[in-house]
Amino acid sequence: MLKKPKFYLTTPIYYTNGLPHIGHTYTTVVADTIRRYKRMRGYEVVMTTGTDEHGVNVERAAKKAGMAESEFVARMAAAWRALWDELGLSADEFVRTTDLRHVRTVQWLFRLCRENGYVYKGQYTGQYCIFDNAFVNDAKPGDNCPDCGRPTETITEENYFFKLSAFQKPLLDFYKKNPDFIQPETRRNEIVSFVEGGLKDLSITRTTIRWGIPVPGEEPHVFYVWFDALTAYLSAVGGPEFERRGMWPADLHLVGKDIIRFHSVYWPAFLMAAMQPVPKQVWAHGWFLMDAAKMSKSKGNVVLPRPIANMLGMDALRYFLLREVVFGQDGNFSYDALVTRYNSDLANGLGNLASRTAALIEKNFGGKIPKPGPLLSPDVALAEGASSAIGEVLGRYDTLDFARALECIWSVIAFADKYLTTEQPWALGNSEEEQSRKATVLWTTAELLRIVTVLAHAVLPASTEKVWTLLGLPGSVAAVELDGLRWGQLTPGKQLGPAQTLFPRVDKSEAIERIEAMANEELNPAPGAPPAKPASSPTSGGAGVAAQAAPEKIGIEDFAKVEMRVGQIKSAERIVGADKLLKLTVDIGTEIRQICAGIAQYYEPEKLIGRKVAVVVNLAPRKLRGVESNGMIIAASVGPEGRPVLAGFPDEDVEVGARLK
Ligand SMILES: [Zn+2]
Repeated sequence: MLKKPKFYLTTPIYYTNGLPHIGHTYTTVVADTIRRYKRMRGYEVVMTTGTDEHGVNVERAAKKAGMAESEFVARMAAAWRALWDELGLSADEFVRTTDLRHVRTVQWLFRLCRENGYVYKGQYTGQYCIFDNAFVNDAKPGDNCPDCGRPTETITEENYFFKLSAFQKPLLDFYKKNPDFIQPETRRNEIVSFVEGGLKDLSITRTTIRWGIPVPGEEPHVFYVWFDALTAYLSAVGGPEFERRGMWPADLHLVGKDIIRFHSVYWPAFLMAAMQPVPKQVWAHGWFLMDAAKMSKSKGNVVLPRPIANMLGMDALRYFLLREVVFGQDGNFSYDALVTRYNSDLANGLGNLASRTAALIEKNFGGKIPKPGPLLSPDVALAEGASSAIGEVLGRYDTLDFARALECIWSVIAFADKYLTTEQPWALGNSEEEQSRKATVLWTTAELLRIVTVLAHAVLPASTEKVWTLLGLPGSVAAVELDGLRWGQLTPGKQLGPAQTLFPRVDKSEAIERIEAMANEELNPAPGAPPAKPASSPTSGGAGVAAQAAPEKIGIEDFAKVEMRVGQIKSAERIVGADKLLKLTVDIGTEIRQICAGIAQYYEPEKLIGRKVAVVVNLAPRKLRGVESNGMIIAASVGPEGRPVLAGFPDEDVEVGARLK
């Protein structure tokens, strides 16, 4: 048997002073998609992720949590790992920088660099915060500490330095010989001019940090940030004995654009100094911005992956992240765009085509894939469209152009929708000729669906398996070899599989409201509350998983926790960009509250003024479409669309502020 070619790719080794948000999820989704794609192209693939667990920030966070550092990082690593597992993003290797295998690798790499003459002891001078016990990077004398605001002091300590300056020419030569090493092109140009501007030697150890990998025989020196963290990519696949595993050098390091310099300058220089193989490619992607600002915890605009996966399924989030933005560029994240894409591309697109095709085959051919008759020009056109899409999509995946790969797949889906609408198999009768035509049209549609399913699998792993099962195809779609994919391989006569729930359509404002409520709960857990529950089946693609869980009975004491009062609406206005929401101010007797309600499509704002309503007044404040809502108006949900009807008090004029029991 021929040995498979290997492909080794990595996400960054994420820093463990917080938990993953959508930015980390994005990189990891990209890595997971490439992994699945490469496997379908016949590669032996290893994907590594992990946690960067050293440094002064971890020291501080552990102290704040009242834990030993080792306990703190073990918990953080477990939480990261659990979330990746929950989201269906488990890597093949999860490396922790506190792992013994990693400690050994860092010490080994340092020894080689030192033996080869690229390490020396020198004086490091920088601005230091006595209170935080840390150097403040890039601070000048007189600057204050950005963390605590206290004045910094100029301190000189003895460090080990890496002779980065010696690698200016070797790096420039290397970039020239390997023009694809840094991607995308714009980043490459930035890095080349940075290196051309000259490289300063790099301090790689500290004596002021305690929580780090010790430099053997040189305590209290510990390795500092990059010499430690970057080396984890190598530790994960064998460290000093990497040849045995056969995965090093890495084929692809995926990184955010903020850390491209470390990966494309420091990292190859360390490896060159140790005379070890250098990675083949570093790809920097952009950021997802929220309302055009970089997400950060302090700005309170962090998007979390779990609530989205719970509401729409992980496949929907994967699809959105890869479809919305050209890989490498910055993109804007909005729940509105996410749910719009979900409904239009997944529910109405792929989901609808699959269930429509299966239903027609069920009705007309007893659920057996029909045998096509003579082909007419529309059938041939569809077949040609799908065939040429195969080559184009693979080409797009190869250059990590996920947005265009998906665009191409979805144009084929749209083609099939149009084909069905024109050919109208449901309108054909039962004569032999018409039956044969029906068979041709439905076989053609089913075959197109098979091709689309295979092509989309790397991005939509869970839902494409469902379509595969629905089509009655054997085994797993993941096992299909992309290089053997051709039009015409669908065998007639096979029985369809059981019906599948693919992408149930959702009401946009309701979906967004639920996602935001779950995110609020995860970011601000009620004191004493158990941690947010993992989704029962996050990768199932089913909408409303959380909402469908069987309701538990509650005791009267639980009900008593909900404080409801009679309120009177004082003002009502529409919210720009949220067609279902109204912003209300409501008098609840003791104060006037701002409350958002999803009733804009059924109630004229002007007619609401003066109306008395039932209000939940002790609900934690939350943001709906960016507008603070401090309470909830009670309404019945009527009919299949869930039309809201406000609860009211028609019998008697009740006092504002009266409690509901
Ligand atoms: Zn400070």
